[in-house]
Amino acid sequence: MMKQGKRAKSRAAVKIELADRLKKLPPYLFAEIDRVKRAVSRTGRDIIDLGVGDPDLPTPPHIIDALHRAALDPGNHRYALDLGMPVLRQAIAEWYARRFGVALDPATEVLPLIGSKEGIGHIPFAFVNPGDAVLVPDPGYPVYQATTILAGGEPYYMPLKEEHGFLPDLERIPRDICRASKLMFVNYPNNPTAAVCGKEFFTCVVEFARRHGVIVCHDAAYTELAFDGFRSPSFLEVEGAKEVGIEFHSLSKTYSMTGWRIGFAVGRADVVAGLGKIKSNLDSGIFQAIQLAGVAALRGPQDFLTEYLGIYQRRRDVLVDGLRALGWNVAKPKATFYVWAHVPSGSTSGGITRLLLERAGIVVTPGNGLGPSGEGYIRMTLTVGEERLREAVERIKKITF
Ligand SMILES: *Cc1c(COP(=O)(O)O)cnc(C)c1O
Repeated sequence: MMKQGKRAKSRAAVKIELADRLKKLPPYLFAEIDRVKRAVSRTGRDIIDLGVGDPDLPTPPHIIDALHRAALDPGNHRYALDLGMPVLRQAIAEWYARRFGVALDPATEVLPLIGSKEGIGHIPFAFVNPGDAVLVPDPGYPVYQATTILAGGEPYYMPLKEEHGFLPDLERIPRDICRASKLMFVNYPNNPTAAVCGKEFFTCVVEFARRHGVIVCHDAAYTELAFDGFRSPSFLEVEGAKEVGIEFHSLSKTYSMTGWRIGFAVGRADVVAGLGKIKSNLDSGIFQAIQLAGVAALRGPQDFLTEYLGIYQRRRDVLVDGLRALGWNVAKPKATFYVWAHVPSGSTSGGITRLLLERAGIVVTPGNGLGPSGEGYIRMTLTVGEERLREAVERIKKITF
């Protein structure tokens, strides 16, 4: 016994080295924020968290009922088909036809995912070779950059500038980068800038992709969260889009289902198939009861969304009008549940983030943490109630900048 214990001890002492690919990832943005947040929290201070992009509104009851019914059926307890149940693929295709007027073949152009992050995270493994460039928006959802690095690709950051409507300026991407690029990520309505785009931009993207042989991956997670009557297009609505790429979509934001893990990729069949091939080697599909709940979400009543959008919109007005009254330079977003605010002059993203946390107990995301072009901004989410947002504005008012 003694001997074994000793051996186990010496074994534990062996140094474990992380793989180089993990060492190449940039430091985790939220680690430092979390540290300060915990420190402030320990003082007993009430914290208003405007940092996380996770809906506080519940999943609608008819979707939960569908999960409950499906969970009771032992037929759903087994491994799922790794490429998704036919009924879910069909429901996704119908939803795209209804919502965007886009026709999809459920057998070859639709792929259910364990949340869209899963598909976004895996797509470079299907198409990017070491040294290939991947065009990534800056600032942007951190997964685009991380997965590119993990797959051995080289991220090329496309700055999203306010004077350009927070759209990447495709003309400014250097020729050699265009040549080396295999994949391009775009995302509208956009996280974190809350910018939206019309079909004209997507038309330019299709033209660019054709010219340079780049696969477009459009992340459409927020198309349904739009205000003031704005209607977000699908990338696939544009002529030729289905020949150059795919679109990622998610039930997470539309149906308040972030924890459920269900999303999908749709578009060009061989791109969908490449992603499917990676997945079939790594996972065994989505729990079937969740797939059937997804069918209930896509085919069921959509009127709850009008109510939810009303709630987000009122919150947006409380926060944006409140900050503007304090002299802040903040645009009123047409979509997403993010507010992308200029930091007060003389400050920086990091400086204001720390100040808001330490002096007002408010957590925000520093813009530069989502990419160097995010410097000078902070991101605030509308996933807390109106009263809390009013309270946040009151607290900010008391800080003198
Ligand atoms: C929230 C979000 C997603 C959705 O992620 P899921 O994995 O489907 O929950 C995708 N892209 C962006 C930009 C997001 O903000």
